[in-house]
Amino acid sequence: MNHPLSRLAIHTMTNKPWSLRECCDAYAKAGVGGVSVWRNVIEPIGIEEASRIVGDSGLKVPALVRGGFFVSRDEAKRNASIGENKKCIDEAAALDAEMVVLVVGAEVGVPLHEARKQVADGIAKCLDHAASNHVKLAIEPLHPMYAADRSCINRMADARYICEQLKSPWIGIAADVFHVWWDPDLASEIARAGRHGTLFGFHVCDWKPVMSDMLNDRGLMGEGAIDIASIRADVERAGFEGMIEVEVFSSHHWSRNQHEFLADILRAYQNHC
Ligand code: ZN
Repeated sequence: MNHPLSRLAIHTMTNKPWSLRECCDAYAKAGVGGVSVWRNVIEPIGIEEASRIVGDSGLKVPALVRGGFFVSRDEAKRNASIGENKKCIDEAAALDAEMVVLVVGAEVGVPLHEARKQVADGIAKCLDHAASNHVKLAIEPLHPMYAADRSCINRMADARYICEQLKSPWIGIAADVFHVWWDPDLASEIARAGRHGTLFGFHVCDWKPVMSDMLNDRGLMGEGAIDIASIRADVERAGFEGMIEVEVFSSHHWSRNQHEFLADILRAYQNHC
């Protein structure tokens, strides 16, 4: 029988006070199956050391987080983002990560319809590099409260339109319950992504009805409004076989003892996912 936590992966950002080594040691010891690595924990040690740490831990790596940010009024910046995304793909390959998560970008002054074109163009320029490195690219739709400056892709359907334009097995979607739980078309879009083979990632946390901060006040599963178990059931019905990735940005939880927080994460995963 599989370990009950074998399908669980935790994003390093969830335990932000920890280094990559501290995350990997604690997750492996707890029986967690995987780690999704944020680039900020690679930066201080370099990619060789990072891939050694992850490799030695035995953890799977569903995702490197994050690439994207394709949108700008400035053509030079748009071109620079392609180079940065290719570097990100190289790092993912070095970590043996399945995918790079894309937060696609948005910029005040760039109309959303134009921004979405820039995103499709930008991803198109990275696809060959992704394919030759065997790294998938997963568009993560972000909640519309981030449409001004982080992501012009806000619904599963918006991500699907890009996938349909690009027609590549290397482009798909990471569905994060925090961003998409409110969407009336969520269940049908999850089913459709399953049929199209584009459901690459599934991220969980919770939506607190009163948030003190748009970025760093997410709830642990069970602390908020999202019916995570029912979305998980949709994802399973769609044929998803990947890991369930816990991604919680929370100044509150980051201020706590991280070992105690990890114990809460494992309990929340078992009770609410
Ligand atoms: Zn996410």
